[in-house]
Amino acid sequence: MAAMEFELIERYFTGCGSERDDVVLGVGDDAAILSLPAGHELVVSTDTLVAGIHFFPDVDPCSLGHKALSVNLSDLAAMGARPAWVTLALTLPQVDEVWLAAFSQSFAALAHQHGVQLIGGDTTSGPLSITVQAMGFVEKGKAWQRDGAKLGDVIYVSGTLGDAGLALQAIKQQIVFPQALLARLISRLEKPTPRVAEALALSGLVNAAIDLSDGLLSDLGHILKASRVGAEIQLDALPLSSAFRACRQDKVAQQLSDECWQSLPLSAGDDYELCFTVGSENQHAVASTLAMHGFKAHCIGRIDNGSGLRCVQKNGKQYQTEQSGYEHFKGSV
Ligand code: ADP
Ligand code: MG
Repeated sequence: MAAMEFELIERYFTGCGSERDDVVLGVGDDAAILSLPAGHELVVSTDTLVAGIHFFPDVDPCSLGHKALSVNLSDLAAMGARPAWVTLALTLPQVDEVWLAAFSQSFAALAHQHGVQLIGGDTTSGPLSITVQAMGFVEKGKAWQRDGAKLGDVIYVSGTLGDAGLALQAIKQQIVFPQALLARLISRLEKPTPRVAEALALSGLVNAAIDLSDGLLSDLGHILKASRVGAEIQLDALPLSSAFRACRQDKVAQQLSDECWQSLPLSAGDDYELCFTVGSENQHAVASTLAMHGFKAHCIGRIDNGSGLRCVQKNGKQYQTEQSGYEHFKGSV
């Protein structure tokens, strides 16, 4: 499909996103050429979305274009990096121009919103899969790493937890939620907001960070392991959206077990919020930065020298859960 391939690239993926001065050469040659600002380091991340694993094959291409870019920008945000450039490797089962137009438009809109330019990629035929590589930069030595958490750090999460997981349960189990609530939850699943602005505003105040793609228990667990520390979190401090709370109070709640409602904010993936740790000396600065920008992030617990991650209930008792986050290859290796 060579000739067709070039036409498609020209039509849908040239001039996509912002036009940046630091792109010396973009789409159209064998490779792109980028110029990195002095005193900064390049931060690079890749994520693949595969039909049937990460999304329903018939999902709205508009949502998919947004999500494919969003999950990658979320990784850069979790490093405290400023996104700048992306590549897109698309594998398509067939050429469907209506699909491509919708996909590329939503991809371009989000790229534009974040000042990001699409600078290259690959287009092949095969089972639907989307790989995005996002690149950004951070002041030398200032990136947020998972191994940076210190004893006594306060643990924060941005936004709210469990919305995407609840949407997924609703779709899978065909639960009849009130329509307006369901729409809000599904938009959290299909069109997550990468917390780039939050990350940039908090620059210099964070010791360790991760984005919540696999669920809080699993992802915060990565910080604890890398930093060789433990943590205690308070279950009633976990931020829940009004849609989540309303569903839990609705008669719909009866269709899901108590265990499920408890574990959704802890174990369900796909929220793409940031989890980050802050030294107590920076807590006030974080609070005023969040307030100044109108960003939402809540303290959910503290880093300590105990063993692993402990979840404490309102009554002071520890909550045990079997479920952790989503793991690919689980049970097969
Ligand atoms: P090559 O055969 O040298 O790899 P390609 O035919 O794959 O070249 O791509 C031609 C140009 O189009 C390259 O600059 C490549 O980065 C770009 N490109 C291909 N597919 C995409 C895509 N889906 N999105 C953005 N750029 C793309
Ligand atoms: Mg190629």
